Amino acid sequence: MIDIEQYRKVVGDKQINDLIEKAKAHEGKRYLMVNTTSDGGGVAEMLNSMVPILNHLGVALEWKILHGFHEFFEVTKSFHNALQGSDIDLTDEVKKLYLDTNQEFASYNKFDHDVIVIHDPQPLPLIAFFEKKQPWIWRLHIDITNPNKGLWDFVKQYIQMYDRMIISNTAYRKDDLAMDDIIIYPAIDPLTEKNRELSRENIEEEMSKHKIPLDKPIISQVSRFDIWKDPEGVIEVFRKVRETSDCRLVMCGSMASDDPEGGEIFKRVEEKARDLTESGDVIFVINAEEVFVNALQSVSEVVIQKSIREGFGLTVSEALWKGTPVVTSKVGGIPLQVKDGVNGFLCEPTDNDAFAERIVSLLNDRDLRERMGQKGKEHVRENFLITRLMSDYLDLFSSILQDQTPT
Ligand code: UDP
Repeated sequence: MIDIEQYRKVVGDKQINDLIEKAKAHEGKRYLMVNTTSDGGGVAEMLNSMVPILNHLGVALEWKILHGFHEFFEVTKSFHNALQGSDIDLTDEVKKLYLDTNQEFASYNKFDHDVIVIHDPQPLPLIAFFEKKQPWIWRLHIDITNPNKGLWDFVKQYIQMYDRMIISNTAYRKDDLAMDDIIIYPAIDPLTEKNRELSRENIEEEMSKHKIPLDKPIISQVSRFDIWKDPEGVIEVFRKVRETSDCRLVMCGSMASDDPEGGEIFKRVEEKARDLTESGDVIFVINAEEVFVNALQSVSEVVIQKSIREGFGLTVSEALWKGTPVVTSKVGGIPLQVKDGVNGFLCEPTDNDAFAERIVSLLNDRDLRERMGQKGKEHVRENFLITRLMSDYLDLFSSILQDQTPT
């Protein structure tokens, strides 16, 4: 049950009063969010919080999920990868599958809302299959600093049909897109099972449930098994860390229903770490409950986020919120969250030596961990909590509706 009053204790009266006031101005309007999964990954994480809270505040925000067959998600995952820089074989058949699934979804849905927000590339072309009667916004969550050119040219035709594009970082601006964009940072919900404060007892209970001994310091990465999160690199870094520091690595991963590659990548990582899992130094936890993720991010001395590309990386804010320093890559949206040497360390994504060195320096220095942990928490409180995100969306809805009002 949502209790907006609880958020006051976290972000203060002003932010909550402003949000309640803003919500009132949206009475009578109806908004829609569309993505492709209800759980797994950062987009679902945010929508699962935002939609009910805004509804609770009287804003009629609906959420629809575009369903597709396995082949559709194979195609869209290859699009996701290519937009982050991989190669792709963009055949007519691939394009047809992508467009047909969107067209079919459009055929049995009525979008009569005042503003439509479409998340990420999977449902991007929906706009082509509706008679456009209202503002449409495309919300991009991935890292497009270096997209595959052929695919970019293909998706660009659909992006340009939108009235506005939301990105998480100025680095994702594209000179060849003649449209307005707006920067909105993603955010975490401080009151969910994933992020609420846990007692030491709760944390120990969660660890024991998953057979994770607390006899050594824990370092961890929480991420889908995805090449862009470099899980194999995490194992390599751990081997280096272990040369000087005795610790245990927990890798917590989930399989999102719109990401068909997870199982195969997990198998590869498991194989690579076999000797370490047998000795109990590496522990994998798959599809764990939110409270376990919370406990793990809280109990870890250091959290790793070794992404090669990262649209934003909610896991980074989640860890910082728990007062845990993060050693991570200087890519995509991560430097918005981690200030090097302040609340964690930024490394070149493939520089395993630098990762290991930074992790060891933190493992050896409790004061540094505490100082950084404190700074991380403050940084998230100021910038990356869901109350700010909801307020940004309400502002955007107001401004886009105003732009469309004839003067
Ligand atoms: N997540 C989870 N369990 C896992 C792995 C990930 O609950 O085993 C959550 C994680 O806590 C975060 C989201 O999935 O809330 C991942 O979001 P992020 O932006 O870091 O990456 P994405 O998966 O969207 O690329």
